Amino acid sequence: MRTIEHWIDNALVGSTSGRTAPVYNPATGQQQAQVVLASDEEVDAAVASAARAARGWRETSLSKRSDILFTFRHLVVSRRAELAEIVTSEHGKVPSDAAGEIARGLENVEFACGIPQLLKGSFTEQASTGVDVYSIRQPLGVVAGITPFNFPAMVPMWMFANAIACGNAFILKPSEKDPSASLFIAALLKEAGLPPGVFTVLQGDKGAVDRLLSHPDVAAISFVGSTPVARSIYTHGTAHGKRVQALGGAKNHMVVLPDADIDMAADAAVSAAYGSAGERCMAVSVVVAVGGVADPLVDAIAKRLPMIEVGPGSQPSAEMGPLITGEHRDKVAGYLADAPAEGATVVVDGRTAQLPAEGFFLGVSLIDNVRPGMRCYDEEIFGPVLSIVRVDTYDEAVALVNTHQFGNGTAIFTRDGGAARSFQFDINVGMVGVNVPIPVPVAYYSFGGWKASLFGDSNMYGPAGIDFYTRTKTVTARWPDPATSQVDLGFPRTR
Ligand code: NAD
Repeated sequence: MRTIEHWIDNALVGSTSGRTAPVYNPATGQQQAQVVLASDEEVDAAVASAARAARGWRETSLSKRSDILFTFRHLVVSRRAELAEIVTSEHGKVPSDAAGEIARGLENVEFACGIPQLLKGSFTEQASTGVDVYSIRQPLGVVAGITPFNFPAMVPMWMFANAIACGNAFILKPSEKDPSASLFIAALLKEAGLPPGVFTVLQGDKGAVDRLLSHPDVAAISFVGSTPVARSIYTHGTAHGKRVQALGGAKNHMVVLPDADIDMAADAAVSAAYGSAGERCMAVSVVVAVGGVADPLVDAIAKRLPMIEVGPGSQPSAEMGPLITGEHRDKVAGYLADAPAEGATVVVDGRTAQLPAEGFFLGVSLIDNVRPGMRCYDEEIFGPVLSIVRVDTYDEAVALVNTHQFGNGTAIFTRDGGAARSFQFDINVGMVGVNVPIPVPVAYYSFGGWKASLFGDSNMYGPAGIDFYTRTKTVTARWPDPATSQVDLGFPRTR
């Protein structure tokens, strides 16, 4: 059995913890490898390596850092098919989807290549007579990122590109379900010229995370994953004095107003609900049909579903792959099983679809007449299940979205600019699409939900990422003639 190891000091490093986790090929359901799970001593060794590297890396010029990131980008572009294949093999998403994830991840590397511009401080001449004041951004030291299974290439790039560009040493603790992409990325960073210790991959589970959260030499934690874990990471990380950004789960509503183009809305809902088998934190999981739009919209969505080809990524025609594990597939299927008793209508049931004989597949599913209070509405399903909630008015739609526990993304489909502007003003959600179903911000904006979708004050990547991975130092300086010096016990005033 192939063993997936740590990456410390620019080399693969085995584990002596004696603990491993299985890594499956979700398209076959077979275990294809095992990943080591770090012991406390291995976490400490990884942090020590990063701490040793942090000083020298901080002293590396911005143009050199930028140069390495440019080279890394070039290497990823030239080998993106291999990286996509790794993602498909362990995650299950089809190759075109894996390629999309890599492209969106690379936008963050491209953003970070501009680090000389991004790290500019500010300078005020003559703040007081003969006194100048300036602020500079300095790295935090060793920072760690803990990432989910659903974007094994992109979400790490959200974090490490900015973190290392800012001069930090970065420790990645990837999901143990699909850990290989992180090692491929690590090898390309080494090839690009990144010094040992600046980028570390620590394979592990809760044990490794707990050790990172309490380690005195880790200054900040970036987390992306489910809400219960995000909440706990935020609580424990901040209790240990760390800066923490913890992004959690989602339930993204797409509101369709009566004036929307039905076919365009149906195309968007289907694409955003079932792409990546619904295992996206920005997937549309609820369509809110306003007024008379409901019947034609449900028909238009249902009509499209039999055309979606579900299959392994190795099948060129496949548009949607399997779920990540058999356990998760069964959990998602459980929502379909419970929905009728709660009063909802299962219009298309993915459990009865014709699917590949092996692997963790579930067909696309559509549930109508869903309401708050039902499990399939209140909870994040994270699978290929789209719910329809019918409401009479725009105000009801806004109230529905605003009272949900999650506030990651939302979208409105309409041809009425005034309604769209009101929606953007009224809605308590961090990322909003206007006729855009998956409004993941480009890398030079920042990503972050509201409510139970984000814990902490910092969004991820873009300008917020630069703020998160640096701290500001403000210098007040003067170069007076010593002859003018005198003792003055009064509090210094500007003159
Ligand atoms: P998860 O919370 O199970 O795991 C995320 C990471 O935390 C993994 O590295 C895992 O090893 C670690 N982990 C798991 N349990 C832990 C625990 N008890 N203590 C400490 N660490 C723990 O999430 P997942 O299943 O890998 O990913 C899916 C979830 O991530 C979904 O809820 C999805 O919405 C969310 N997600 C959110 C965003 C966002 O930007 N808001 C993006 C992608 C995914």
